Amino acid sequence: MGILEARANGMREAIQILGGGLAGSEAAWQAARRGARVVLREMRPARPTAAHRTDRLAELVCSNSLKSEAEWTAPWLLKEELRRMDSLLLRAAQEARVPGGHALTVDREVFAAAVTRAIASEPAIEVRREEATAIREEDITIVATGPLTSDALAGEIARLTGSERLYFYDSISPIVEADSVDTGVAFWASRYGKSTDGTDDYLNCPLDREQYERFVDELLKAEAVAGHIAEEDTPFFEACLPIEELARRGRETLRFGPMKPVGLTDPRTGRRPYAAVQLRQENLRADSFNLVGFQNHLKFAEQARILRLIPGLERAEFLRFGQIHRNTYIDAPALLTAALQLKLQPRVLFAGQISGVEGYVEAIATGLMAGMHAAALAAGEIPLALPRETALGSLCHYISGADARDYQPANITFDLLPQLDEETRGRMRHDKAARHAEVCRRALRGLDEYREARRGACSI
Ligand SMILES: Cc1cc2nc3c(=O)[nH]c(=O)nc-3n(C[C@H](O)[C@H](O)[C@H](O)COP(=O)(O)OP(=O)(O)OC[C@H]3O[C@@H](n4cnc5c(N)ncnc54)[C@H](O)[C@@H]3O)c2cc1C
Repeated sequence: MGILEARANGMREAIQILGGGLAGSEAAWQAARRGARVVLREMRPARPTAAHRTDRLAELVCSNSLKSEAEWTAPWLLKEELRRMDSLLLRAAQEARVPGGHALTVDREVFAAAVTRAIASEPAIEVRREEATAIREEDITIVATGPLTSDALAGEIARLTGSERLYFYDSISPIVEADSVDTGVAFWASRYGKSTDGTDDYLNCPLDREQYERFVDELLKAEAVAGHIAEEDTPFFEACLPIEELARRGRETLRFGPMKPVGLTDPRTGRRPYAAVQLRQENLRADSFNLVGFQNHLKFAEQARILRLIPGLERAEFLRFGQIHRNTYIDAPALLTAALQLKLQPRVLFAGQISGVEGYVEAIATGLMAGMHAAALAAGEIPLALPRETALGSLCHYISGADARDYQPANITFDLLPQLDEETRGRMRHDKAARHAEVCRRALRGLDEYREARRGACSI
């Protein structure tokens, strides 16, 4: 029976979901509870990955933390929105919760068992334990095969998106809050005065010889993160080597790489600094700077300690630390709409880490939205992206709207959410906690309005 005939007979086509991890499980459940039929393909246990240890759906591969539950923080807001959208995985996390201070920490066995049970007992979902190797363009498909997508499917995704739009490693540089940088020390300038848009594009942190030598000493002593998966699975690309590896290659290497001072004049001394670190305003992230070329593989506490040795960053607040790890993800800004559909193949959606987000809860969030949008497509409706002011909407806005040339996956932070209006910002100028609480209230209001307006439609 063809698609049109099936629709005419009132029989909805099955949504194909590839990957039964965090995103795929949430997507399957969301689509099913909106009346869709789902085929969920998970390749474990027949074909294992380098990180998963069990055959369960929604296995947490490393830490057992779903991050902060402290009210009015960005990770809390994302989880609160998911709870309001009736997320299966957030409910399972609540049932599997173990003491973990402010964090939502779970017993991973209880969590994965609860999700596996819920999916198995949902009659509209058929779970097939097999590797997906093809994406049929006539099907509604959600690709949720995660950072360790099998090679055969990665080849198929490359065919669909273009191989230059599929990446295999994350090479993430740290991000700091803009107002935590000391602009009495750091200065605005572009190398040789060559700005790309007529402004001084970079904030530069200058180092003298002594400061540089101390920085290199500390970097060489710093403790790296233990590998999640075998080191041979995560070779470094020469083009984006971690700063500690550059330092190991020679004390001067950084000064000829990401810390080169050429073309810069420190206005305080009128001279070229011995070395410099460049901070770039993050595209589509308000109020934050990226440390250009500072990807690294160090423990987060070590990064905080060592990067604060850089003049101007003594009191830096880190929104994200540097990382390098194996990660399959697409160039989402070039490929996806804010409803997570491929721009050129709108019946194919992406969710989870492969869609260009980072983190467990972000994977669940994109899974929830993809499941909802796929159900809308199956019902003949037009998927409607979540409002921009919500954390869910902001994640999608970032992955579909950031600069495609230099795309880096993101976790939820306040700098992905739109700023408050000028009047409110001015009023709360000295109270960051109050500003964050206001951003959260606005987000939850926006989500409630969206749900109210869409009541009865598949896309809610
Ligand atoms: C080693 C490692 C450690 C991480 N640690 C953390 C952490 O501590 N905290 C955190 O927040 N984030 C962490 N992440 C990042 C990310 O949040 C997790 O990887 C998360 O599980 C992503 O969810 P997902 O649904 O996108 O992918 P997954 O949960 O990995 O699910 C993808 C599923 O697809 C299956 N699959 C793959 N290819 C195919 C195929 N061709 N056919 C069928 N099935 C297929 C896989 O077996 C898997 O079950 C880590 C990532 C990695 C790689």
